[in-house]
Amino acid sequence: MTGGPTAGVDIGGTKIRAAVVTADGAVLASATAPTPSGGAAMLDVAAGLVAQATATARVRVAAVGVGAAGVVDPVTGEVLAASDSFVGWVGTDLRGGLAARTGLPVTVANDVDAFLVGEATWGAVRGVRSAAGIALGTGVGGALWLDGALYRGAGAAGEIGHMPGFGDARCTCGQRGHLETLASGRSVERRYGEAVAAGGSGGVGSREGSGAVVGAAEIEARARAGDAAAARVLADAGRAVGSAVLVLAALLDVGHVVVGGGLAHAWDLLEPAIRARLDDEPPVSGHMIEVRRAVLGGDATVVGAAALAR
Ligand SMILES: [Zn+2]
Repeated sequence: MTGGPTAGVDIGGTKIRAAVVTADGAVLASATAPTPSGGAAMLDVAAGLVAQATATARVRVAAVGVGAAGVVDPVTGEVLAASDSFVGWVGTDLRGGLAARTGLPVTVANDVDAFLVGEATWGAVRGVRSAAGIALGTGVGGALWLDGALYRGAGAAGEIGHMPGFGDARCTCGQRGHLETLASGRSVERRYGEAVAAGGSGGVGSREGSGAVVGAAEIEARARAGDAAAARVLADAGRAVGSAVLVLAALLDVGHVVVGGGLAHAWDLLEPAIRARLDDEPPVSGHMIEVRRAVLGGDATVVGAAALAR
């Protein structure tokens, strides 16, 4: 436990970001660079960004926290699994490698775990005893905060994106019917494209004849403008998230869920569908579940990683 600033690092598929964060969650300085190929190169860039951010902030940090894409072993600090886009990342000694490069103690976690720690420490579920986090990004990530601490299992606890029972579409993991096939940004884009191709839009989207991918932000805008297909795929995503929340509540009795990630920008379109799903089938415990939108935005992971280092 330290009262001074700590450094947080967010290691993602396209960029690596480091920030110096105070004990109150304020970002003093940050630095970002593209993610290079290979585990050692990624650690070199991460260590360089920590040095750059601390130099800009003109402070010393006592520790470094990392939120990294993939499954990270909480005991060994090694990367156990990651998507194919990370070349040479699995097997990397994330904690040891970064500690050697920075000369600082390093705490490591998955990026969605770090996001939830950020929201639980300084964000939407601050002061809450138990909460689940759901990140609706390119994929769907999840994390658990139980009795005031991150619950990690063997490294992948709370990974609800690959929970079955959500139809039969093929998931990015190769299996079928996972939550991610309905609620990720990529699946919203795929499903909207399919609806338009089938001529089922009935709205402004019907001008698309051929298979150009419409981005999630544009689908969101079209839904607000009255495009029925766009509204439907977002409502389907919201209902799927609602079902996942019910599973989390049944299993863990968490009273709060925080939803972040890029697709959470469509909160006004998702939230009514999430809420309707929860109202359809309230938990047998009778305990209310409060679902909140994340408030730390794009900084949640890097700020949460810094909180993890405290
Ligand atoms: Zn899957």
